[in-house]
Amino acid sequence: MTLAQPPHKKAKALRPGAPRPAKELCSECGLCDTYYIHYVKEACAFINQQFPALEATTHGRDRDLGNEQEVYFGVHQDMMAARKQQPIEGAQWTGIVSAIAIEMLTQGKVEGVVCVQNTEADRFQPQPVIARTPEDILAARVNKPTLSPNLSVLEEIERSGLKRLLVIGVGCQIQALRAVEQQLGLEKLYVLGTPCVDNVTRAGLQKFLDTTSKSPDTVVHYEFMQDFRVHFKHENGEVEKVPFFGLKTNQLKDVFAPSCMSCFDYVNGLADLVVGYMGAPFGWQWIVVRNDTGQEMLDLVKDQIDTQPVMSSGDRKAAVQQSIPAYDKGVTLPMWAAKLMGVFIEKIGPKGLEYARFSIDSHFTRNYLYLKRNYPDKLAQHVPEFAKRIVGQYQLPDE
Ligand code: FAD
Ligand code: SF4
Repeated sequence: MTLAQPPHKKAKALRPGAPRPAKELCSECGLCDTYYIHYVKEACAFINQQFPALEATTHGRDRDLGNEQEVYFGVHQDMMAARKQQPIEGAQWTGIVSAIAIEMLTQGKVEGVVCVQNTEADRFQPQPVIARTPEDILAARVNKPTLSPNLSVLEEIERSGLKRLLVIGVGCQIQALRAVEQQLGLEKLYVLGTPCVDNVTRAGLQKFLDTTSKSPDTVVHYEFMQDFRVHFKHENGEVEKVPFFGLKTNQLKDVFAPSCMSCFDYVNGLADLVVGYMGAPFGWQWIVVRNDTGQEMLDLVKDQIDTQPVMSSGDRKAAVQQSIPAYDKGVTLPMWAAKLMGVFIEKIGPKGLEYARFSIDSHFTRNYLYLKRNYPDKLAQHVPEFAKRIVGQYQLPDE
């Protein structure tokens, strides 16, 4: 869909630390670190919500609001659970994202891959790069669970003359990317997305680790798992599991970035292909193919992965409804009760796509309340229609 355009407009990039146009809602996506800041008023995910238009240009149509599956998971033509037959050591899950990126590069589909390594000094400090070798891509494996300025490399792309590019990123980065796609002068852009929620600044991450893990300094990665526990993997390979219901929500309430508390693009609706985990059984990854470009990418690794159809069981609605006031009041259960609750919910609770809907409902209701309280003037324009429908299923606390 991408066409090379005449020279685009430029404006002066902002200095690091300078106030951003989206103010405190800025997710540090990186656009404003480049001369593409000229387009910020239209492009920024937190200034201008434009899902239907961007979905239509990206996928050929916007999401079908009469189809519950699309209301929740966005435009798609296929969905499955998958895992690499030989997982990549040190990847966040089984490394499907890194494997696809490597094939895209080595099979000549693209000349470079935008991905996120970490700085030498800090394993969780993101360092966006344009990878030109499989080794560069592998060095970017595993989540950097912090806001990452992926789009800060956009000027470098133009300077280096790349014409075929793969970008790996989360929803807010991809929304801004799609909005300036026509200005990048590329012949072909591929977008491989991951879902994303509850991201934090580097300082916020430290607070989360310090309040939640018994050994914050040795955590190499963590994930909010489908068994309703946070799994922290430590340097020595040990996995520490902390039940969601035991999280110190009273201390963690302000830890998530305001951008993430206002986000309704959990499932990365504008990527061509999305690789996450939350719609899949435990141990598997969840793949959403949004369009033919996404299928083209997935086909490159079909010999490396096992797949199975997505499944769904349980009923999330009562659990979501109960979690709304509990989260609102910052209630923390004693650890023994939290563990018991976790075991109970794991046995009878939502699984597969129903777990994904549980997570989407919980976050969208929380975020809707956050916006309503803190940015009431933005509410009508910023919340997309699909999110309004999801939130509308629940009774929210009176203001
Ligand atoms: P790997 O092969 O390990 O590759 C990971 C890729 O992620 C790398 O290419 C790297 O460039 C990229 N990356 C790392 N950090 C960032 C970052 N901060 N911003 C942008 N790109 C980054 N999935 C869900 O199903 N539900 C969730 O709630 C969820 N939350 C997430 C929150 C964050 C902050 C991130 C980054 C991802 C989240 N995911 C979520 C996606 C999931 O954790 C895995 O990243 C995904 O399943 C891919 O796993 P993998 O083993 O194939 O990735
Ligand atoms: Fe700029 Fe991105 Fe921040 Fe919006 S989110 S103000 S586009 S850096």
